[in-house]
Amino acid sequence: MPGSPLERIMHSDRLPTIPAVAVRVIDLVQRPDVSLDELGAMIERDPALAARVLRMANSGFYGRPRSISRVRDAVLVLGLRTVKTLALGFTLVADLRAREGVGIDHTWLWQRSLYAAIVARAVAGRAGLRIGDEAFLGGLFHLLGVIALESALGDEYRDVAAEAGRDIGLLRVRELERFGVDHSRVGAALAERWNLPPTLVDAVRHAGDPSRAPLETAQLVMCVHAGAAGADVILGDRPGEQLAALRTACERLGVAPAAAEELVAAALADGAALAATFDIPASCLEPGEVLARANEALLRLTIESERENAALQAEREQLIQQASTDVLTGVANRRHFHEFLEEHFRLAARYGTPLSLFLADLDRFKALNDTYGHLTGDEVLRAVAARMKSVLRDADLLARFGGEEFVVVLPSTPLEGAIQSAERVREAIAARPVEVAGQEIPVTASFGVSAYRADALMTPEWLIKEADLALYEAKRAGRNCVRAAGDEVSSRF
Ligand code: GH3
Ligand code: MG
Ligand code: MG
Repeated sequence: MPGSPLERIMHSDRLPTIPAVAVRVIDLVQRPDVSLDELGAMIERDPALAARVLRMANSGFYGRPRSISRVRDAVLVLGLRTVKTLALGFTLVADLRAREGVGIDHTWLWQRSLYAAIVARAVAGRAGLRIGDEAFLGGLFHLLGVIALESALGDEYRDVAAEAGRDIGLLRVRELERFGVDHSRVGAALAERWNLPPTLVDAVRHAGDPSRAPLETAQLVMCVHAGAAGADVILGDRPGEQLAALRTACERLGVAPAAAEELVAAALADGAALAATFDIPASCLEPGEVLARANEALLRLTIESERENAALQAEREQLIQQASTDVLTGVANRRHFHEFLEEHFRLAARYGTPLSLFLADLDRFKALNDTYGHLTGDEVLRAVAARMKSVLRDADLLARFGGEEFVVVLPSTPLEGAIQSAERVREAIAARPVEVAGQEIPVTASFGVSAYRADALMTPEWLIKEADLALYEAKRAGRNCVRAAGDEVSSRF
């Protein structure tokens, strides 16, 4: 079975690896009981890191400017949590900054990331959320996947990146079309592999589309989303739309939309000092000019091109839709299935929510093709997909797995529920013949069900494998029936 596009990317040996010093930082950062002295000592062992932390402590970014000369004092005034964030940010950025861009200008990428970090932290503060440090890191690394894709794909990525220009939304669409996976997923997978904090993984994963974030990290994701919009007001090609997006994000967080402009102005004011600390060239923009440009663009947008804008948005949504749909049956395609399964598998592994899936393989379909012809066979596939869909829950994903096989993923559903659902689908298919051009064609299907277990060997592939074995049992038992993965099935391996 070929792996998903994500797996293929994640297997590339050209992906950035985590620097050894960052591993130590992450280890320390994740420990809730780390002491001030331990953290200070670790930072002092790395002179470049120590210099940066001191510089930050003395800048006005975290309260009033001070004159601190010892790392220990910096940790004391900034607080453990903030210094942990900074140490992680500095260490990773220093390493990743050394990479050259392919198609995407890395100076721009890091400027955008830094502005996103600043705005994300500020908006969290305004919303009264105590997640400013996490939001800062989320902004800083929300484009990690772009660097990963560039590294893994090299020249292949160049056209895609060049075509998207500075439009990160468009970049995601193009990545999906071309590679079957976007930088949000790749960035999150890399962050996970590097053992970065799980909240940061979610922020990287969902900042581009906060509506899909898990409840636990939805606010953080929204802050980072707001940060990215703020960065685009400053550096993007469509500042008007981005200002509108920032206002909307503010509103969702319970912050007055009018604060959007103050956030942007403050980010520009803080940007230069922070950029220097991170070794990122400053963008030298005037807050007044940026905001005037954004407001003017926003005004033009609302007055002139509201309709056109909606049309573009619809076109973009259609593109995303096409990239994830099976052409013959109109249900999700295999790429979308893998993406959906991996996403829910991760949630199941992290939050312990149940998850199951089943495979459906039409019975004796070769014979059906031989009798009625391939085109009629295609019509039957279409009709079966529609019947399946009609008895599934909205939350379940129905996808064409290939040929005359379908797969259904059932989030938040244990094995028992999935067996019932498969049984319902089986009945719906077998209940009456499918009618194609006046002919009544009897159709049945066989089903194999499997469910997630908190077990070290569990992977999305294994879940599919178990369903496939159960399906084989269903075929052996005479077809038109449902079999579930049980101990006797898995113990054979
Ligand atoms: P069973 O699964 O019950 O063991 O028998 P089967 O005849 O369905 O066997 P198998 O799954 O091996 O064969 C699948 C057949 O489905 C092969 C091919 O002719 C047909 N098929 C696969 N994809 C399509 C398609 O897109 N359109 C049509 N019309 N037929 C397809
Ligand atoms: Mg088959
Ligand atoms: Mg078959």
